[in-house]
Amino acid sequence: MNEKLITVTSPLLPDFKCFEDYLQEIWNSKWITNNGSFHKKLEAALCEYLKVPYISLFTNGTLPLITALQALRITGEVITSPYSFVATTHSLWWNGIKPVFVDIDPATGNLDPNQIEVAITPKTTAIMPVHVYGKPCDTQRIQEIANKYGLKVIYDAAHAFGVEVNGESILNAGDMSTLSFHATKVYNTIEGGALVIHDEQTKKRIDYLKNFGFAGETEVVAPGINSKMDEVRAAYGLLNLKQVDAAIEVRHQIAIKYRKALHNVEGVAFFDDMPGVKHNYSYFPIFIDVEKYGMTRDELYFKMKEHDVLGRRYFYPLISTFSTYRSLPSAVPENLPHAYQMADSVICLPMHHALSEKEVQKVLEIIVK
Ligand SMILES: *Cc1c(COP(=O)(O)O)cnc(C)c1O
Repeated sequence: MNEKLITVTSPLLPDFKCFEDYLQEIWNSKWITNNGSFHKKLEAALCEYLKVPYISLFTNGTLPLITALQALRITGEVITSPYSFVATTHSLWWNGIKPVFVDIDPATGNLDPNQIEVAITPKTTAIMPVHVYGKPCDTQRIQEIANKYGLKVIYDAAHAFGVEVNGESILNAGDMSTLSFHATKVYNTIEGGALVIHDEQTKKRIDYLKNFGFAGETEVVAPGINSKMDEVRAAYGLLNLKQVDAAIEVRHQIAIKYRKALHNVEGVAFFDDMPGVKHNYSYFPIFIDVEKYGMTRDELYFKMKEHDVLGRRYFYPLISTFSTYRSLPSAVPENLPHAYQMADSVICLPMHHALSEKEVQKVLEIIVK
C-alpha cells in the first residue's frame, strides 16, 4: 500500500501480545464458539459500558436487523430512510417487507419525524430509523407517532456506539437497537454486531433466534438463523473495549481541528455537536455547496484522491436508487429532496484514532483554498 495514503478510516486493533494471551486461553479451553466464556464476558462488559440492560452478540451488524424484524414479527410495510447503508433496507427485503422511504431532516440527516405520518398506511407495522453518523434521532417524537399508530420502532444504531443523550444511552430508545462492530466502525470486533434489548424475555428469544431457534437440546421454537459470535472475536472485542474511550477522544480532538479550520470556508458546511449529547465522532461529513465553494463535490473528492487523501461519499448513492428499490412508489426523487441534496453534497473526511496532526493538516490544505 502507498505509504502516504490517508484513508478515511483505520481499524482499532488490540495489543497483539494481549490478544495472543487470550488466544492461548481459548486454545487451552478448546471452547471456540457457542456462548463461551469470552462471549459471556463481552456481553456483560458491553452492557456496562453502553449503559443498557441486555445485549446479544452477533456475527455482524446486518443479521441483528434481520433478526429484530423476525423477533417482533414485523410484516407488511416499514417506514425507513433512504440515507443509510444498504443493509438497513436489505434487512426488510430479506423479511419480505416492503420498505417505504421517507425524507430526512436536512439539519441532522436523520428520518424527518414530520414526514412519517403521511407515509403510514393500514399495512405499516414499524418504523426503522437510523442514527446517521451517530447523531441521535428525535426518539421522543418518533415514539409518540409509534404509540399513536401502534407501530414498533427498531433503530439501526450501527453508527451510535456509546452515544448518550442527557446521560442516557440512545440505544435504550424504541423496541430494539442494532449495532455493527465492523472493522470500519468506532468499535470493532473485525466483523460483528449486536442487538440491544430492554427485557429478559426478549433477550432469551433473541438468543434462540441467533442459534437456529434452539431453546434446549431437543427443542426448536422458531426458524432461527445462525449468527453467533465466536470466542476469538469476543476476546478481541474485550480488548478493544478497553481502548475505545481513548480512541473516541482522539477523534474528538480531530473534529475540533476540522471545525476550526473549516469554519470560515465558503460553501463547506458540517455538523456541530448537539447540546446534551455525548458524541462518538464516528464520521466527519462535510457538505459542499457548488455555487459558494466553486467546485462540485465530486471534483473535490477526486482532487483529494489525487493527493492521496481518501474521503468517502457516504451515503451516496441513496438506497432508493439501487435496482432492487427504485421502482417503489416512495423511491421517486420528488419524495426525497433533502436526501438527494445531502447524498449529492457529502464527503466524509478521514477520521480515525491513528490520524496524525500532519495528516489532518494535509487533508485541510486540500479543502481550504
Ligand atoms: C455498517 C452498517 C450496517 C451493517 O453492519 P455490518 O456489520 O457491516 O453488517 C448497517 N447499517 C448501517 C447504518 C451501517 O453503517
